[in-house]
Amino acid sequence: MSKPSSASRPEATVAPVTPLGYAPAVMATYARQDVVFERGEGSWLIATDGQRYLDFASGVAVNALGHAHPLLVKALTDQAAKLWHTSNLYRVAGQERLAERLVAATFADRVFFCNSGAEACEGAFKAARRYHYVAGHPERWRIVTFKGAFHGRTLATLAAGGNEKYLEGFGPASDGFDQVAFGDHRALEAAVGPETAAIMIEPVQGEGGVRTVPGPCLRGLRDLCDRHGLLLIFDEVQCGMGRTGKLFAHEWAGITPDLMAVAKGIGGGFPLGAVLATERAAIGMTAGTHGSTFGGNPLAMAVGNAVLDVMLEDGFLEAVQLKALRLKQGLEGLKDQFPSVVEAIRGHGLLMGIKLKPNAAEVVRAAASTEHLLLVGAGDNVARVLPPLIVEDHEIGDALSRLARVFARFDATLLKS
Ligand SMILES: *Cc1c(COP(=O)(O)O)cnc(C)c1O
Repeated sequence: MSKPSSASRPEATVAPVTPLGYAPAVMATYARQDVVFERGEGSWLIATDGQRYLDFASGVAVNALGHAHPLLVKALTDQAAKLWHTSNLYRVAGQERLAERLVAATFADRVFFCNSGAEACEGAFKAARRYHYVAGHPERWRIVTFKGAFHGRTLATLAAGGNEKYLEGFGPASDGFDQVAFGDHRALEAAVGPETAAIMIEPVQGEGGVRTVPGPCLRGLRDLCDRHGLLLIFDEVQCGMGRTGKLFAHEWAGITPDLMAVAKGIGGGFPLGAVLATERAAIGMTAGTHGSTFGGNPLAMAVGNAVLDVMLEDGFLEAVQLKALRLKQGLEGLKDQFPSVVEAIRGHGLLMGIKLKPNAAEVVRAAASTEHLLLVGAGDNVARVLPPLIVEDHEIGDALSRLARVFARFDATLLKS
């Protein structure tokens, strides 16, 4: 199709590229909902038509502290008036401070800052390969991953995730990843060979359908890595930063990884990612081996430090655990109330999934359009429930009432057919 001049393209006759392509100038890579938000306050988003939406999507687990949190707004605007960007040619004070605080709060000894989850995962792959390279084993460069995983949309992270639908049409998948079925211990042992560098897993699978890896399995992975001299990489881009009621989800299992990818909630809505590593796992990452122009710039660091100020406050994570319990009990109640709609409730903390019998994408759309409740779809016909960590008890109750009305509608249609 040739590009018509804008004069011959009056608004009403523009044929969208897809049925959901509202503005053809924006590449149609997302199936967006037809709503534009203008403002946010805590757990609420306000659309351009003034309608209020209860936000249990949190920008896909990004707005951990909700919208327009006063401390984050202040941190960002104060920094914005001083200095935005210097590059990594110089020391960045906010980076040193945030890295030291992350080191103090976790297993890690070293932190590399980037801008997104995919970049954090790529940084972890590179660190794992480099570790074996400097240890005299350049042949150890392959990484074992799990079916249903999601690690991002760059070529390497797509190969790591192994989702056929996302890989289609982009040429051969990047080499270096060996995928095994989730929970297949025999396949896992068989996948580890003389070329294996690391095993990578999300302690709670997010996009893949909200599947929690049981603690004994995470401990088993730690043992397996130790027995074979492999590095264990956790992708806590979605399940980390307080989402499960601990700063990081693996803390529930009582073991630690060698490398960890972090993003989403760490910037509270400002693009920020990080690779956390033990001193040993970071051994190959010397000057010149890796970089990012924007990674760890003063704006991102100001917000990252403010997010951590809030999350490390006494009682913050305990409050998340209590809210999570309330949400989980409510969701289990809905499952009992609507057995023809809800198949199972899964997840951990405020990263919950409702496995549905009707089409999950339709339920997510209906919740937004009829009840102004925002949820996120996931694999395996699951609707994700991801409130901000600052959600209030009455807002959880409100969301459950809205969900009950959505389910009642789907229940009625099922009964009729
Ligand atoms: C979202 C996500 C990513 C990718 O993050 P981007 O910022 O979109 O690149 C990687 N891993 C997990 C577990 C995620 O949920």
